[in-house]
Parts: sequence; C-alpha cells; structure tokens
Amino acid sequence: MKKPLIIANWKMNPLTRKEAVLLAQEIEEGSRMVKDCEVVIAPPFPFLESIGAALKKSKLGAQNVFWEARGAYTGEISWDQVTRLKVRYVIVGHSERRIRLGETDEMVNKKVRACAEHGLMTVLCIGERERTGAEIPSIVGDQLRRALAGVKTNALKNLVVAYEPVWAISTNPGARADTPDNAFRARMYIKRILTELYGRHIAEEVRIIYGGSVNSTNISAFLEEGKMDGALVGGASLDRKEFLNILKAASDRRGIPKLK
Ligand code: PEP
Repeated sequence: MKKPLIIANWKMNPLTRKEAVLLAQEIEEGSRMVKDCEVVIAPPFPFLESIGAALKKSKLGAQNVFWEARGAYTGEISWDQVTRLKVRYVIVGHSERRIRLGETDEMVNKKVRACAEHGLMTVLCIGERERTGAEIPSIVGDQLRRALAGVKTNALKNLVVAYEPVWAISTNPGARADTPDNAFRARMYIKRILTELYGRHIAEEVRIIYGGSVNSTNISAFLEEGKMDGALVGGASLDRKEFLNILKAASDRRGIPKLK
C-alpha cells in the first residue's frame, strides 16, 4: 500500500514570507516523527523559493501554473518556471479558480497536459457544486473526461485526482465534510472512468485523494472507510498542530496521541 499523500493547500496565506517559512519549518520538523506519509506543501507563489530551500523531507507544490513554458502571457507563471523552483506537485482546476476566476475545463485540460506530460505530479481537482442525493453527480465524470482529453497514457503516472465536493470546502457557506461512504462512491466512479479511458492497470495506479473540511478527527475515516489515497487540506493546513495531527492520524490509522 502507498503512503497516504497529504497536500497542504495554503491558498493566499499567510501574508509574509517570514510567517510562511516558519510554518513550513514547523511542519517539516514535526513531520520527521511521521514516517508513513508523503507530505506536500503548496504555498503562494512568492514563497516557493524560500520554502523550497527550507524543505527536506516534504515536497513543494504550486497551487496553479500556466500551460505554456514561456512567452507573452502577462501575469502568468509557467509550469517550466515552477519546475526550476523545485516544485514537484501542481494543483490544477481547483474549484476556487473554476468558480471565482472563470477557469474552464479547456484551460484545466491544457494545464493537465502541460504538467503531467512534462513530469510534474498533477493534482487534478474535480467535484460538484451541490449534492442533491447519494449519487455522484455526472458533472464529476464530465470534468474528469474533459480534463483528460488527449492526455497520453504514459502521463497518467503523474496524475493524482482530488475529489473535492465544492459544498464540503470549509470556506463555503454551510460547509461540512462529505461522508467517507460518499467519498468511496466517488473513488469507484472515478476509477471506473479512468479504466474506460486507459484500462484497468493504468487506472489502478492513479491515486485518488479527498478534499473538503478534512481535519485530524475525520482523516482516518476517509483513508480507511473511504479508501482514499490521501487528502488535500486547506484551512487545517494553516494550523501547525492540527496539520501535524492530521499527518500523525494518517500515518498511524490506529491514532497516535494528539499534540497538546
Ligand atoms: C480546498 O480548498 O482544497 C480544501 C480542501 O479546503 P478545506 O480543507 O479548508 O475544506
């Protein structure tokens, strides 16, 4: 079994480089006690270089990239530029970018192709805005198929799918974590589509992680009952103790005593 993949998405936090480096150092220090997790920290762009220098065991992630390597794209940051800053993981298609910044399935597809085909681990976020019943809405399947249009089979080894129901993301009104049971259903649904597109052997290797109000209390259930391969963590990743407790719980599903 692969180690759980736990990704800290700091979004547009914290404000200063000093705070960002300190938090990264504390996570790096604390996570030395955690053997069985793959940890990724995705800070805002201005802090990538400093945090890259501070990390040894944890890996560096970017929250977004542009699909071209270079050129006249004012304000954008390319996949090739972040690769040179030691970035190994890139989050693509986060719902905040889709909803608030107008990122389309077509743009997400270009980013997935650029990142995964150039060897960056690509964390593709998909998830429905509203849940009306127990079924995983077909929009999730549509997002997945569109994001993977034309993506070559050998790039799939660089793909991680993050199932993030938008209504479960902690900053959204009335947010609540999904149930491990629903997360499991989403996993099966995503695996089925990957199997249709790329065959069973390839689909089996793609990690599916869950995101949406993950904390140190619910992470074990998502990994054990939901059979998720890890989690994308937003709000709780900015709290050193809580994030380290998530790592401990993920690393030892029997539950290690919490940090006080
Ligand atoms: C996210 O925005 O990717 C996320 C999972 O946020 P949170 O953990 O705060 O719900």
